[in-house]
Amino acid sequence: MSGKSVLRRCVTCRELLDRQQLWRVIRLANGGLALDGGMGRSAYLCPSRTCLDEARRRRKLQKALRCQVADSIYAALEQRLLSAPAAGAEAR
Ligand SMILES: [Zn+2]
Repeated sequence: MSGKSVLRRCVTCRELLDRQQLWRVIRLANGGLALDGGMGRSAYLCPSRTCLDEARRRRKLQKALRCQVADSIYAALEQRLLSAPAAGAEAR
């Protein structure tokens, strides 16, 4: 078990967080986008309403990934907010 954490920066608030705590959006080699896993340029986002709304409004993911980001990507992330337990993830 490695306790090493990898820090990534949220595209909206620019805060450095452990990548485990961030959402990851990946631009795949075939031009599509994926969430969480895949090979390609990645953008990270805090799982928060504030950062998600700001990212959508200011097209942060588009800029970070240098490609179009369908609204369905933002919608999918929003869905996670709605289905996630309120504050902080439960320890498994
Ligand atoms: Zn953020």
